[in-house]
Amino acid sequence: MSRPTFLQTSGAPPFVDRHYPKATELVQLWDGKKKLDGTTIIGVPLSKPSISHSGASFTPGIVRKLMQSYSTYAVEGEVDLRDSNVLLDAGDIHMHATDIKESYRRIEETVTTILGENKECIPLFIGGDHSISYSTLKAMNEVKTGKIGVIQFDAHHDLRNTEDGGPTNGTPFRRLLEAGVLKAEHLVQVGIRNYSNSAYYHQYAMENGIKVYTMADVKKNGIGEVIRETVEYLKDKVEHIYLSIDIDVLDQAYAPGCPAIGPGGMTSEQLLEAIYMLGKEESVCGLDIVEIDPTIDFRDMTSRVAVHCLLDFLRGRSVLNR
Ligand code: CA
Repeated sequence: MSRPTFLQTSGAPPFVDRHYPKATELVQLWDGKKKLDGTTIIGVPLSKPSISHSGASFTPGIVRKLMQSYSTYAVEGEVDLRDSNVLLDAGDIHMHATDIKESYRRIEETVTTILGENKECIPLFIGGDHSISYSTLKAMNEVKTGKIGVIQFDAHHDLRNTEDGGPTNGTPFRRLLEAGVLKAEHLVQVGIRNYSNSAYYHQYAMENGIKVYTMADVKKNGIGEVIRETVEYLKDKVEHIYLSIDIDVLDQAYAPGCPAIGPGGMTSEQLLEAIYMLGKEESVCGLDIVEIDPTIDFRDMTSRVAVHCLLDFLRGRSVLNR
């Protein structure tokens, strides 16, 4: 017999409006052969190194699923992302079940291979916890010609020592500095806030010459000015800029699904404005979005911010490619 008219294949959307394209339509699954010559999602589902309990390894799957909740059209500027963007999806890096160092090695090996063979690839790493940034940046630093600077959106400095707890999600930037992968003056931290850091580690940031914008700076100057200043500052020093977006930079009201929630953080509007601005910067060579735990989220609110970060980054690229 043939399939009854109203019986769909499993997984098909219950309703389709042919004049309402979904963000999922931007996504092209990588066949392992095609050149990855643009923005490319790479899932990095690792959250075992987290200091606190975290299910951040579930984020890549949720973010992909939520793409079908949003359209491809931005009313601001009347931009349809389909006109100039393809979002490739390379898949997820397979992690070791128990061996964290082996998982880091797999991230480095995968990123080195992909970026080594696809010079035009702009990776969009979906974590995972913040410890992955050490491995993604180490690998990118190996294959990229020219220096990489980092804009880190975060409530925390992430400069903890590794003697007390090993390479956790509180240590990635300390490790990058100590390994000589990243110079302190090439790191800009935005959104650092009260009661989320110790005096010792703030002092460490200051003494080493890391550029820090606290939430008070963001409030006083506006996020637009902070990003303009940051890009100017880094442009003189590096050839590429990498964005590391720890979603806990947001106030807890906007990000209930972060392991480290707290008040006094950015609004989602401020973060999205920053990401859109940086999408327009040609020197931006990739980004990561980390520290979302979908297992404690409310109505996927936090993962939805991540989806909008991706879309607003693409919106920025649309303007750049126009
Ligand atoms: Ca962090």
